[in-house]
Amino acid sequence: KLILGIETSCDDTSVALVDRSGAVAAIKTVSQYDIHEAFGGVYPELASRAHLHAILPTIQTVMTDAATTHSDLEAIAVTRGPGLIGSLLVGLSTAEALSMGWGVPAYGINHLRGHIRSAALEGGITEFPAVVMLVSGGHTLIAFLENEWSYRLLGTTRDDSVGECYDKVARTLGLGMPGGPAIDRAAARGTPVLRLPRPMKNDAYEFSFSGLKSSVARHVETHPDVSVDDMSASFVAACMDVLAAKAERALKECAPKSLVIVGGVAASAQLRETMSALVERYGVTLSLPPVKWATDNAAMIAMAAWDYVERGVQPDLMPKPNLSLETP
Ligand code: ATP
Ligand code: FE
Repeated sequence: KLILGIETSCDDTSVALVDRSGAVAAIKTVSQYDIHEAFGGVYPELASRAHLHAILPTIQTVMTDAATTHSDLEAIAVTRGPGLIGSLLVGLSTAEALSMGWGVPAYGINHLRGHIRSAALEGGITEFPAVVMLVSGGHTLIAFLENEWSYRLLGTTRDDSVGECYDKVARTLGLGMPGGPAIDRAAARGTPVLRLPRPMKNDAYEFSFSGLKSSVARHVETHPDVSVDDMSASFVAACMDVLAAKAERALKECAPKSLVIVGGVAASAQLRETMSALVERYGVTLSLPPVKWATDNAAMIAMAAWDYVERGVQPDLMPKPNLSLETP
């Protein structure tokens, strides 16, 4: 049996088929990058329209690629939040219609739980209890998971997310979009010679990144000929320092079996290295998503949905643009 995952919370239309073990039978993600590029951010109404345009053909492609019919489906899983209301509604309405037509139950899934379960895709194992760090474009948070269902938020960011900060620093340095991978590459070439602040490094589980971002901008303004590679390396070093400090605190205080790092920034080679060095010192396992599924995708939504199905959660297809981690 397979779960059909549908993800339309932001600017990617993604559809996937995933079995209980986390094997991905088929996946297709249609990017809206070209549509939003000119606006320097996601234009919500254009995003909804593009989802509407792409959703049914994408579902059809994925079902055909996996040679699947609706009788092979255990459930349909669709992101219900957090995300843009118009974008969420396209996925939710489609899932509801398919559910009625096919007689297959449809579950509304928390996008953040999707990111967290991305570490279980393609043979990935998350041992519980676990400490999870979600570092994405919209979120930066750390949580304790007693099991795959009980989430306790430890802390979150007061201002920008790490991903947002990567993107803004990339723009300041003229590296273009998407900023994360560009910064990651430039940082690998550079040396972290510039001393940048480590905001809230020692403040328990709270994060703050806007000061770091401004400090890069100020430095570039006063030193226009600064090396982009060295600046990127210095910026990444500051981010790594803060993230590692928070993760280390949680490893000490929560004594988990594994550390789970998910979200778009989990694609960063530096972050993967930093965290594997950390877990080695504490004797816990590191659980990471495959790099290609660190950013938004429907496979992680389908993966998370298996937990919902097995817990007997009441399916709920109401959109929740501000859904928090603790609510399914
Ligand atoms: P959320 O899930 O919080 O609503 P999102 O889904 O928009 O946010 P993701 O798709 O998980 O965010 O991640 C996008 C972010 O990841 C972007 O900010 C991007 O710059 C960053 N990112 C992607 N690849 C890398 C990389 N290799 N190194 C660092 N950052 C990266
Ligand atoms: Fe996301």
